[in-house]
Amino acid sequence: MIACAIGQEEALILSVELCSIMNAKSGLCAENCKFCAQSGHHKTGIVSYPLKSKKEMLEQAQRAKEIGAHRFDIVTSGNALKADEIKMIAEAIAEIRKKIGIKMCASLGSMDEKSFVILKKAGLGSITTILKHRRAIFQR
Ligand code: SF4
Repeated sequence: MIACAIGQEEALILSVELCSIMNAKSGLCAENCKFCAQSGHHKTGIVSYPLKSKKEMLEQAQRAKEIGAHRFDIVTSGNALKADEIKMIAEAIAEIRKKIGIKMCASLGSMDEKSFVILKKAGLGSITTILKHRRAIFQR
């Protein structure tokens, strides 16, 4: 019984992957989701800034690797990124995969199929996205 319990615990531990998250774009979102500190409609005192540079993303990914993370996650505020922002993030992902070798995740708001394909081809392994906004729910 004890051996079985230990075995299960070890199995759980073996399945854990550590992920380091970079807040690559903060605040200033035009949407008004009531729960979200990134909305420009709420006064939360967070530091707001536009999309970080590719160089900063590479530096953060390198740091994540050095502290033992298995994954690096680029997260941005806002409903959807512009095409040039997706392109820059895709370039950063490709360079991070090639030079640093850490697995890549992203949470970049809502996006179209073309953007998904660009990011996937760049080496993105996992994404969290908003497929459809239900405004009535988000504004509660
Ligand atoms: S769209 Fe996203 S970033 Fe903007 S307020 Fe809603 S949850 Fe926050």
